[in-house]
Amino acid sequence: MPKVFTAKAARDYPSHDIKKWRAYIRQRIKVDPKTGCWVWQLSRFAQGYGQAGNAKYFGLDRYAHRVSYSVFKGPIPPGLKVRHKCHNPPCCNPAHLLLGTQRDNMLDNLRSGLSITMKLTPAKVARIRQLLMQGMRCNVIATQFGMSAKAISHIKTGRRWA
Ligand SMILES: [Zn+2]
Repeated sequence: MPKVFTAKAARDYPSHDIKKWRAYIRQRIKVDPKTGCWVWQLSRFAQGYGQAGNAKYFGLDRYAHRVSYSVFKGPIPPGLKVRHKCHNPPCCNPAHLLLGTQRDNMLDNLRSGLSITMKLTPAKVARIRQLLMQGMRCNVIATQFGMSAKAISHIKTGRRWA
């Protein structure tokens, strides 16, 4: 894992220089040719959101998609969330991001959690259940299966695959 906050970073990314912050995002993503998503390549939070390690030191956000929104589209009003139209948490494509309330965000997560869960085969579900029984944590399993931790917890609680 690269160490993202260095004295060099402080020199290279002054908080007022929007062009450099746009480059900061572009250098840390890979475009998915199928979806157009800008997929964050560095560390992620458990929910799958990109971690913008050094951005938070400059008054920006620790979430990569929120940094992307603010440097490409504009400031995020207090209390509002940045939502993913593509339901892909590590995505930082400003064209896929829009503002919303906490409630909108919860609905988004619910929908994406459910649709991903429904794509699973019974064999995969059995494998996930086995890992859960062995005590593996939801977010670790989620990473392995390319799913949200929420979707895994649906399986754990049996809400989706009883
Ligand atoms: Zn996207």
